[in-house]
Formats: sequence, structure tokens, C-alpha cells
Amino acid sequence: MSGDGMSGATASARAALIDAIERDRDDIIALLSRFIAAPSPNPPGDTAAATAVLTDYLTQNSAPFRIVTANGLPNIVGAFDAPAAGPHLVLNGHIDVFPVPEDEAWTHPPFSGAVVDGAVWGRGATDMKAGTLASVITYVYLNRVKAELGGRLTLTAVSDEETGGKWGALYLLKELGNEVRGDAVLNGEPSNTMTLRFCEKGTLRLTFTIRAPGAHGAYPNKSENPNRIAGRLMQRLDALEDLVPDTPAPLAAALADPAVRAAVDAAMGDGTAAIADKVTVNVGVLRGGGKVNIIPSLCHMEVDIRLPIGIDRAAILAEIDTILSDFPQVTLTVQEAASNASSYSDPGHPLAKLIARSSAELGRPGVVAVPSLGATDCKHFRHFGVPSFIYGVPAGNMGRADERVSVEDVMHVVKTHALTAFDYLTGGAEP
Ligand SMILES: [Zn+2]
Repeated sequence: MSGDGMSGATASARAALIDAIERDRDDIIALLSRFIAAPSPNPPGDTAAATAVLTDYLTQNSAPFRIVTANGLPNIVGAFDAPAAGPHLVLNGHIDVFPVPEDEAWTHPPFSGAVVDGAVWGRGATDMKAGTLASVITYVYLNRVKAELGGRLTLTAVSDEETGGKWGALYLLKELGNEVRGDAVLNGEPSNTMTLRFCEKGTLRLTFTIRAPGAHGAYPNKSENPNRIAGRLMQRLDALEDLVPDTPAPLAAALADPAVRAAVDAAMGDGTAAIADKVTVNVGVLRGGGKVNIIPSLCHMEVDIRLPIGIDRAAILAEIDTILSDFPQVTLTVQEAASNASSYSDPGHPLAKLIARSSAELGRPGVVAVPSLGATDCKHFRHFGVPSFIYGVPAGNMGRADERVSVEDVMHVVKTHALTAFDYLTGGAEP
């Protein structure tokens, strides 16, 4: 499994790497516990304490890094060069987490970082402090054996993902250029340890504003009703879900494979495979009127459209333009900051193959490459042309009460990332 042509020194460094991570299991889990116990909900987005947990660890372990501040938010950027030539691998994870709503009832407080019943508990355990931990551990442990590696390893741990990445990954990609673009990205967002994610749908968020004169409710002869117009418009938008994308062949093949469909449904819920290559339309906000006997003058409707690979926003907006020709009362605005194109990396990329091989070697064979529906920072890297892959812990209870991650899953993901990075940087990708 360790690749033909690997030297004896490299092979023993590879075995020692996994042994060292297992030997340090208690320290690694304690680090994750401290990381979770340093709250970083976004909004509001104060990640200083959680960032300090990671930078303290990097400093204690003599791993090079610097802080790149964007809009007051700290992003950790570290890199080292190996003595031999080789590819540039970028590790990416985010430090911020979902907020904790007031009404959530937790078995252990959301920022306890409690290690109980074989799991680490708290907001961000799965999304994605366990994954960011995998990036940090991989970076530190590979730095120790860099004499055996080729190329460059870069760590990016960012403070803004939950609100779009403008001050996180996107900022680094724009400001630091090739320093963080690399040849490939390994990211530990939740995936479930039996799947890796190679593409994600795009997002198009729209606001429809519907106006009419308004009138007393007893006189519909005096004004159209914006709420009723919204109802008719909503029904017409359903047709967007019938648009057929130009699905890339590897993705079409994956989605035709019953094993992949089963893995997608297992990882993300029944029925997910069926919509992975479909446009979906969600009317998330509808606000109109203030009193039952008044015809309102305004209705406000917000719609979240998810774009599969192979269909772009221009096609959707053209279709909506046609629909709106029947609705002169409606104006449309695109929520640009919350809209992103879909993104895709070839599931046959060497890094994807290595993820599956590493997981199998570490005792969990049969990892399949699946499309994902939710958005991650990988989209930003892919939009800059960098193949990006996700492998992480199961998403169970992500962003809900009692979010937690099993110690065994954490250790598996940490080791899989470390082994994958080691093999990628030692040319072990090609058997
Ligand atoms: Zn995330």
C-alpha cells in the first residue's frame, strides 16, 4: 500500500507518522476539546480565543505560521518547504462556527468541549473544528518529517466561512495569490468517513419586491394584492426545477452508480441523491401585509435557488426574466454576497484517490466520491482553479443541540489527512 519505489527511510517515516498520532491520541483529543471550548460563533464572529488555541499549539510545536488579519479577523497561514521538489498541497479549515440559538437544549453546555461517552461535545465539533484540527495536526506532524517530503505544505485556518468567506479563504486567495492556491486542497468539512466530496452546488439568492397601490380589503377592485401575486409567482418558479443541467460525465457516472446514490443518501439523508443534479427552489422568506382587512401595498419574497454542476446563473436568470414579463408589478434583485457558482473537481484526481486509499489502509475501506449540496470554502479554491476535496467526520447533529463527534471518527480523519498529505508529498499518489 505504501507505493512502489518508496525508500526505506520514507516508508519508516510514514509508519512512524501514524504511530506518533496514535500515541498522542489523548493530547490531540484534549486540543480539540480546548478548541471547542473557545467559543467562535459567527455571527458575531469573534474568533480570537479559538485562534489562540491553535496558534499556541503551533508555537509549542515549532511549526511556522503568521496571522493574516482581514476586517479585524485573524486567519492562520503557515507553510514549509520540503527539501525535494514536489507539489504544493494546501490544508484548509475554518475556525468560526454556527451560533447557538437561545432555545437549544444541550446535554452538556455548547462550549463545554466535554469528552464524554467516547465523543467530544460542543458547537462546532463536527462543523468543523474536528476537520480544522485534522489540518493543524497534519501540518505539525508533517513538519517534523519534512526531510522525507517533496514540495510544499500550506496551512490555512480561517475565521470567516459561516458568513461566506469574504474575510477568510476568499480574502487569502485574492490577497496572497499563489502562496495559498497550490496544486490541490485537502479540507476536513464534515463528509462522513465513508464519502469524500468533490463538487458542490451553487447558490443564487434572490429578492422579489412586489408592489401595488393597496386598498381597504373590501375593495379588491381598487388594487391588486401583492400577496396573491407572490403566490402566482411562486408557482411559476417551480418550473426552474425542471431545467436540465449539462452534467460532467464523471459526475453523471457517479450519480448513476447505485453505491454512490446509497452513500449520498446515507451521508446526507434519504432523497438527497435524487436532487444532487437538480435545480432546487426554496421560498425562504415571504412578508406582506400588516392587517387582515387591508390589501397590502408591498410583499417581500426571498428565494434560495441551488444550482447543480452544469447550469449557471445566467440560464436561471434568463428563465426568471421570461416569467417576470408576466409580472410587471415585480422587481428582482440578486443577493450577490450570498450567491456563488457551483464548483467541481475531477473525482479521479490523485488526491481523491489517496484519500480513499488512506482511509482503507486505516481500516475504513470503500470510501466513495460524492457530490455535496451544501457550500464550503472549497468553492473559492475551485473558482481559482485549485482541485479541492473534502474528507471529514459524519455531519450528525451539525449545527443542532448536542453537536458532537466520536473520538474514533476524529482519530480516523486526523490520520487519514496526515497519511494522504504524506503520500501526496512523497509522490506516493501513483502506485
Ligand atoms: Zn463548515
